[in-house]
Amino acid sequence: MKILVIEDEHKIASSIKKGLEQEAFIVDLAFDGTSGLDLALSEEYDIIILDRMLPEIDGLTICTKLREAKNHTPILILTAKSQLVDKVEGLNAGADDYLLKPFAFEELLARVRALARRPKKSINHLLTIDNLTLDSLQFEVKREGKYIRLSTKEFSLLEYLMRHPNQTITKDSIINHVWNYDADILPNTVEVYIGYLRTKIDKPFKKPLIQTIRGFGYRIGEHI
Ligand code: CA
Repeated sequence: MKILVIEDEHKIASSIKKGLEQEAFIVDLAFDGTSGLDLALSEEYDIIILDRMLPEIDGLTICTKLREAKNHTPILILTAKSQLVDKVEGLNAGADDYLLKPFAFEELLARVRALARRPKKSINHLLTIDNLTLDSLQFEVKREGKYIRLSTKEFSLLEYLMRHPNQTITKDSIINHVWNYDADILPNTVEVYIGYLRTKIDKPFKKPLIQTIRGFGYRIGEHI
């Protein structure tokens, strides 16, 4: 895991670097906004730790610029201000989490680990299989150009399948990705929802796209 730390206070920056390296992360440092943004755009990082107040380019601007450049690396903002408005601004600029200064290293580490566990946001929000399209930003599903109305759960399930086309997906991984771990899921819940999806995206059309792989799970895509 490679982390970029953009922080102008050298003491804080090097203690974050030292602590993260002890946890086996690879850490690059930048001490101002310009070099930080350059590094973030030219290198590939798993996480960016970004100070809010920086010389040259401030943290929120960096955040906005990265998201505009379709860079979806998880960003943890460090901020000395405790106002709610700061948090809201940070999240609006596309940050994933924020941490108030001063902080204990363990707290930073916990946030970094949480971000590291998140599935990478796909740059591609428009998914297509055959004549079925799903737009995860607009929350729209179309087949043969016709809009199909799905519930939130049906949409999440379809999106999960469509992000893994032509792969067999087990019921367990569907439950883990589409439902919360702590949700009460009956064993046949996935089957029930696959049934709902079939009624909406397959039955009215000639070619079914969702297939049951007996004993394993489901796949979407070309028939085998
Ligand atoms: Ca600063």
